[in-house]
Amino acid sequence: MNARGLEINKALVVGLGYRSGLAACNFLAAGGVSVTASDIKAEGDLADVLSRIDRRVKTVLGLQDPGLIDGGFDALILSPGVPRTIPLVARAYEKSVPVISEIELAYRFMRGRIIGITGTDGKSTTTALTGHVLKELGIKTVVGGNIGIPLVSLVGETSDDSVSVVELSSYQLETITDFRPDAACLLNVTPDHLDRYDGMESYLDAKLRIAMNQTGSDVFVYNLDDPLAVSGAARARSARLSFSLADVDADIFLRDDRVVLKKGGVEVLDRSGMRIPGLHNVQNAMASVLMVSSIMERMGMSPDYAGISQAVCSFTGLPHRMEGIGEYEGRVFINDSKATTVGAVEMAVRSLDSEGILILGGRTKGDDYSRLARSIGGRIKALVLIGESKDSFSGIFAGFRHVLADGMDDAIAKAMSLSGRGDAILLSPACASFDMFRNFEERGEAFRASFEKLKKGVISWT
Ligand code: ADP
Repeated sequence: MNARGLEINKALVVGLGYRSGLAACNFLAAGGVSVTASDIKAEGDLADVLSRIDRRVKTVLGLQDPGLIDGGFDALILSPGVPRTIPLVARAYEKSVPVISEIELAYRFMRGRIIGITGTDGKSTTTALTGHVLKELGIKTVVGGNIGIPLVSLVGETSDDSVSVVELSSYQLETITDFRPDAACLLNVTPDHLDRYDGMESYLDAKLRIAMNQTGSDVFVYNLDDPLAVSGAARARSARLSFSLADVDADIFLRDDRVVLKKGGVEVLDRSGMRIPGLHNVQNAMASVLMVSSIMERMGMSPDYAGISQAVCSFTGLPHRMEGIGEYEGRVFINDSKATTVGAVEMAVRSLDSEGILILGGRTKGDDYSRLARSIGGRIKALVLIGESKDSFSGIFAGFRHVLADGMDDAIAKAMSLSGRGDAILLSPACASFDMFRNFEERGEAFRASFEKLKKGVISWT
């Protein structure tokens, strides 16, 4: 297979526990490449993946022998969850075997325009929203990447007239080499994954790789309200376009609840018409408007702002992000299970219409949780702490009324007794879910299931 200058006849895929590893194996095998897949997990833990893998793929499971790379591979495809520092990958670098992400592999076969979206929070929402707007405008659109659909599985759907909207995590960006989006977006850079990066600078460096191959004819959309995004933008060679909730010098900004384009002073969007809540979603919408309009211009179309506005307003959001799941005894239940960072929880609390109880905790990711303790006072009456961070959070949030809970049923029961009519009960954990659940989706579903039990009277709280 010739991947734009990289001849791949024999490939090693490292990391099968992620959708992208499986998709890369199947894509390469279908293209006639001899594929070996390696994972530290044993066969029994990968049963689901193995049932869907192309039969021609050889697997080396349960260990990760650095010597494997000596088998004469033309490329190593690295899953985003596997650090580049493990001995097998380090040896590949030593031996000058190209190490690329599944995103890079896909890029080398994709056609049409590409929009790439990264940031600490809001990536999936902005990716889905941008895809929705483009589709509503009648443009052929493909949506994938970190949002859950491996890009390589969508290659066949791209064409010269399509736009691919790609969500990119910093992990995926670590191993791109040529990937060059026509429009890139950096939504925000706040502490996250500091268990993997040395500090904020190296985390920002990974995110900025989104623009490293861009030239002056490409666009870089960034958040003017975020100091790290601003410092990163200064390093981009592309045409820069900024968005802001306050600064009227930005290319698009919010004024009196209206979103205004600096160029021509055009009011493009009325915030009250949007169905996704909170100011963070206005930021996401502003980023989308800039990306969609600049891609349209690059495709020789003039942006239809009325159509764009209508499409932004008809977007109903993704599950597990500030998702209203219902009301019980005057309390509004909100599932924000996807909020795994302090920044996302701050946004969630800020966008509440009322005071509330916050269900918080899980597996920590090196964030500064004392920052959260300082910023959520006033709106949050009490905390219900769950997961393995319970004890440490009990200290960090000592200034708040708080209780510890075992499991989601108990958390909801305790949140009920701490709250009153008119309050919100918000699951916005600021942590990863892996201590209690398989993923954030399962955590959100558990919250919904406990809510349903509460309504049926199966959970007592008085
Ligand atoms: P990501 O894909 O980057 O994790 P999501 O769109 O899935 O982002 O949203 C994750 C969480 O971040 C949700 O809780 C959501 O409410 C919050 N969020 C969404 N957009 C933003 C933003 N622009 N700034 C801060 N938080 C946000």
